[in-house]
Amino acid sequence: MGIRENLAEVEENIRAACEKAGRDRSEVTLIAVSKTKPVEMLMEAYEAGIRDFGENKVQELKDKYDKLPKDIRWHMIGHLQRNKVKDAISRASLIHGVDSYRLAEEISHQAIKQDREADILLEVNIGEEESKFGVPYNEVEDLVYKIISLPKIRVQGLMCIAPNVLNPEENRPLFQRMRKKVVDIKEVMLHNKVGIAFTKGILSMGMTGDYQVAVEEGATMVRVGTGIFGARESVI
Ligand SMILES: *Cc1c(COP(=O)(O)O)cnc(C)c1O
Repeated sequence: MGIRENLAEVEENIRAACEKAGRDRSEVTLIAVSKTKPVEMLMEAYEAGIRDFGENKVQELKDKYDKLPKDIRWHMIGHLQRNKVKDAISRASLIHGVDSYRLAEEISHQAIKQDREADILLEVNIGEEESKFGVPYNEVEDLVYKIISLPKIRVQGLMCIAPNVLNPEENRPLFQRMRKKVVDIKEVMLHNKVGIAFTKGILSMGMTGDYQVAVEEGATMVRVGTGIFGARESVI
């Protein structure tokens, strides 16, 4: 199947999941994860209406940013190294994978230099997997409070990469816990005037294997790669 057909199918699945959960389709942003794919394929998705693209390497994001239309919102979804922060925040509208104060500090530092606000999401290691990046679930609040005091960086929500499972239902309870954390933190932010965070209340979760379940459980952003562009070379 081509990209246009794949997109139509993904779109239909998101719509159905929204309907099932009593949510409005406009609450969910579809991010087309285009890592390793050539700009021609991204352009096809762009022409089919996609404006949000996800990349996991800063160099690749830079190259594609230069070649593609400027109304695209780029999402840095990979693990960000501190020496790449400068190039990432000048191009990406959202940094999804922040999981340490040190990285947040560097983002703040570069954002001051570039005189821009950097929007970020904290990555949660929701499956408690050794191999995964991310903050442990019960340390999320502490990190939010620490980052709040840094200038020019705004924590807008949470993201997770759920375990790779055969049956997406297995990830449902994890998505529910993610959603609970976002709701809890939003609540605290509203009532105790500790600072500004979670204004957008973004919840970035769900990939090709489990995005319908993620939408049913409250995802506001889903990151779909294979389901749109087909399989990637296994080297990545
Ligand atoms: C590659 C990637 C995706 C997309 O994965 P698919 O299974 O191809 O949909 C989503 N999120 C992150 C962080 C990724 O690295």
